[in-house]
Amino acid sequence: MRTRNKIALILQWVQRTPRRLDIEALYQHTMTTPATPQAVSAQDDKKAAAKVAMGWLHTAKFLTTAPELKHLPRLDVPEIAFVGRSNAGKSTCINTLTQQHRLAYASKTPGRTQSINLFTLGKQGVTDAVLTDLPGYGYAAVPKEAKLRWQQVMGNYLQTRDNLKAVVLMCDPRRGMTELDEILLDVIRPRVEEGLKFLILLTKSDKLNKTEGAKALQIAKLNAGGGDVKLFSALKKQGVEEVAQHLWDWTHPA
Ligand code: GDP
Repeated sequence: MRTRNKIALILQWVQRTPRRLDIEALYQHTMTTPATPQAVSAQDDKKAAAKVAMGWLHTAKFLTTAPELKHLPRLDVPEIAFVGRSNAGKSTCINTLTQQHRLAYASKTPGRTQSINLFTLGKQGVTDAVLTDLPGYGYAAVPKEAKLRWQQVMGNYLQTRDNLKAVVLMCDPRRGMTELDEILLDVIRPRVEEGLKFLILLTKSDKLNKTEGAKALQIAKLNAGGGDVKLFSALKKQGVEEVAQHLWDWTHPA
């Protein structure tokens, strides 16, 4: 072969072969780009929906506080109750979901400790759902009489609140489900069978490693009786958007 032809062939080969940089770029592109246009739009839709849910939760406003169910206003919008043992991370969870620093903190001020607190949700001042913060139970320093009274108030609320649509139970996985958590599950079971939504949040998940987290999820799922279980960390923002999406979906059925 003549030298000129050889050079032409080499040039053609070089032009056809992707340079190393191109291969890397192609690899990066393949790794970061979802395979199909449908996948791209599904991901975008999910992000957009989570943004709507988070924006909606940010509208939370304190409505009222009441010592017993009979003092609560009757409402015709769906209500979601947050329950859990004292110190399980319930206030922090509500504040994280609503992106407000002190919304649920108010329940800790004296006088509100044993009360049911309601917060409205809804854009443009139109309430379309309510969050209920039920005070934490199982706090050792509370006198026995007060504990019993509180169990009654909570049982009454969970069994008979007409517009109650969902219950979110906060549980510190390092302590596991306590006896009071299990009593609560028994109280709501008949309503869950009738369609009440139920979610267990394993809080402070940043304190667990991967294996511990997976194990805690497995154990809690056995107790959840048809309800969903999620790891949640206010600190690391784990599970926040997913939970926000659940709350939105429960109260805005398609
Ligand atoms: P409540 O009694 O159930 O309302 O619990 P709090 O929201 O007051 O939280 C109890 C303690 O747990 C506080 O010291 C919080 O700072 C801490 N805590 C709450 N959420 C988290 C979390 O996601 N990660 C960590 N590491 N600590 C948390």
